[in-house]
Amino acid sequence: MLNEEQEALRQTVAEFAHEVVAPVIAEHYEKHTFPYDIIRQMSKMGLFGLPFPEQYGGMGGDYFALCVAIEELARVDSSVAITLEAAVSLGAMPIYRFGTEEQKATWLPQLVTGEALAAFGLTEPGFGSDAGGAQTRAVLDKASNEWVINGSKAFITNSGTDVTVVVAVAAVTGETDGRKEISIILVPSGTPGFHVQPGYSKVGWCASDTHELTFDDVRVPAANLLGNRGRGFAQFLQTLDEGRIAIAALATGLAQGCVDESLRYAKQRHAFGQPIGNFQAIQFKIADMEVRTHTARLAWHDAAARLVRGADFKRQAAIAKLHASEIAVTNAREATQIHGGYGFMNEFPVARFWRDSKILEIGEGTSEVQRMVIARDLGL
Ligand SMILES: Cc1cc2nc3c(=O)[nH]c(=O)nc-3n(C[C@H](O)[C@H](O)[C@H](O)COP(=O)(O)OP(=O)(O)OC[C@H]3O[C@@H](n4cnc5c(N)ncnc54)[C@H](O)[C@@H]3O)c2cc1C
Repeated sequence: MLNEEQEALRQTVAEFAHEVVAPVIAEHYEKHTFPYDIIRQMSKMGLFGLPFPEQYGGMGGDYFALCVAIEELARVDSSVAITLEAAVSLGAMPIYRFGTEEQKATWLPQLVTGEALAAFGLTEPGFGSDAGGAQTRAVLDKASNEWVINGSKAFITNSGTDVTVVVAVAAVTGETDGRKEISIILVPSGTPGFHVQPGYSKVGWCASDTHELTFDDVRVPAANLLGNRGRGFAQFLQTLDEGRIAIAALATGLAQGCVDESLRYAKQRHAFGQPIGNFQAIQFKIADMEVRTHTARLAWHDAAARLVRGADFKRQAAIAKLHASEIAVTNAREATQIHGGYGFMNEFPVARFWRDSKILEIGEGTSEVQRMVIARDLGL
């Protein structure tokens, strides 16, 4: 149950999604273009600053509020929702949580207003789930007091837009007793040797920005280390724990969008002389979709409420992410089925939902990783 303020935010974002995003997003999706105008308007609404204090130009809200906005956006389109999720949760949040006062002063004012975007580079071409497999290396050159970074990152969201200003890169900075020391280093866009590769050809999220990044003797000041040296592993685990709640909210929005579109279609499409919504087979499909969506929403509400009040939320975040992403895929499959042949046509939102749903079981920790986190938390 949302409080009055959260409900007002939900309605504002819902209106924006229907009036501003819905009319233009299919074309961006088809052409694989980044929706700069939509992002600019979201920035003016303050969505990028929702969980940050006013001191940095934020809205003084919390992570729950961010998730409410993400769910409503994803109800209409996931590319826009993931752009917000990654910008806040993966981009600005690590700088806010772990950065020095100087780093915060440099980056946060432009990030929390949404004028600029930051990205988070953890995954590499050769590893994803096994974060200890990192190959990208950063060596401190004592003479110049600079990090020298070599390696590459794969599938990095928001890393190549015209307004991307910085990427937080997880790199191996040493080794103790055969264990890798991992640290996070901020690499500003345009640093010599830092190359953004062409965008991927993706199955879904076609209006969001994703690139491989390469680092060839990239030099940044020693002061670009985020927080303490060797804390990278703990920093990205915390970042991902929080991000999972936001992905669960996004998945819930997509699942809700499937209910919305299926309801509308079931009332207007006729077969055998009557609306298909008169058939119990269709009614039961939609009822089950609604049940799944409702339980996914309860799961992310629980995890977000725990995060906001400072309680343990690791297990609940993994449960919410696992459940919401899997039910989103199921709802998308059922919604396209209800739409028949039209469900396979890109001009219908459910086709986009179907293409966008699969990544939810993969990004920010696969379903297998969520099960590992839950089992470990249960003591196994
Ligand atoms: C569109 C998109 C955007 C992304 N954005 C970002 C981003 O902004 N920043 C970033 O750092 N990353 C990003 N990613 C990367 C994403 O987080 C990874 O793809 C994901 O974590 C999985 O890693 P992987 O692809 O290397 O799969 P792998 O780790 O190679 O896994 C392959 C399969 O093996 C399974 N598996 C692995 N280990 C185990 C195990 N121990 N037990 C059981 N099964 C296991 C996995 O669950 C999976 O099914 C993005 C990916 C995509 C596609």
